[in-house]
Amino acid sequence: MRNRRYGVPSVLPLPLPRASQRAETLAARGIHPQTARVIRFAVLGSGSGGNSTVVECGGVRLLIDAGLSAKQLCLRLRKVGIEPAALDGILLTHEHGDHVKGLKVFLKQHPVPVYATADTRRVLAINGIDGGVWKTFESAQPFRIGETAIQSFTVHHDAVDPVGFVISHQSRLLGLVSDVGHVTSSMIDRLRGLHGLFVEANYDDALLEADTKRPWPTKQRISSRHGHLSNGQVADLIREIAHPELGRVVLGHLSSDCNKPDLILGRLRTCLTEMGHPHVDLQCACQDEPTGWFDL
Ligand SMILES: [Zn+2]
Ligand SMILES: [Zn+2]
Repeated sequence: MRNRRYGVPSVLPLPLPRASQRAETLAARGIHPQTARVIRFAVLGSGSGGNSTVVECGGVRLLIDAGLSAKQLCLRLRKVGIEPAALDGILLTHEHGDHVKGLKVFLKQHPVPVYATADTRRVLAINGIDGGVWKTFESAQPFRIGETAIQSFTVHHDAVDPVGFVISHQSRLLGLVSDVGHVTSSMIDRLRGLHGLFVEANYDDALLEADTKRPWPTKQRISSRHGHLSNGQVADLIREIAHPELGRVVLGHLSSDCNKPDLILGRLRTCLTEMGHPHVDLQCACQDEPTGWFDL
């Protein structure tokens, strides 16, 4: 869903800084130019209780979603060695509470620029989530934050204008996709050639079917084309996009009742081995603890 009412987006592609300017800028921010050449990311927490991932890329530090409490966001950022005030931006995938819960309080403490589609920004403002500096972009329109290139793309989920992201620097590509009801061919096209991927693997079909806690309409919503991805759908996606240079896949948003890390890891391991890519590192993020850094 593209927003047509807001005309020209407020985020526009920017020219790259010269090499000397870049080295000075990085040194001033305590980042060595060589470490700024890689992309690295850490999942601060993922699940229905809240989602947030930090990405460091080309000297830019970005938070993808802010679904943990502001206190936990700060605590977990510091745990992976990032001062909250040192963030260059917060990118939002969509407006659901488990992706924005800590945003309002976090912005009061650290007024970091927030990047969202115009519709997502509008819905959040209606719900009192405001403050800080907001920069809107149109889904599918590329933009830059410093030297880091960001490509968003539309995904199918029951939110107003949900997007996924591909973040790139010096030809290294990281894809981030959560939440998604089903995989489309245009989404597959966007995710080809990645070196790393964070993707939700919400439920196992049999465990969701057997679950007694969730009423039938909730199960229908989860498994609908605007709900979440099953392990089978994630395996199908990986089958489409795996290639020799895909180094790692991190799974997130696992349902605590309707999925188990062993199920999705085993399924993907079999799939990647059959495809001749047994080297791909597979990990599951969890709700209560940040992961370590994953380098690309
Ligand atoms: Zn959602
Ligand atoms: Zn979610």
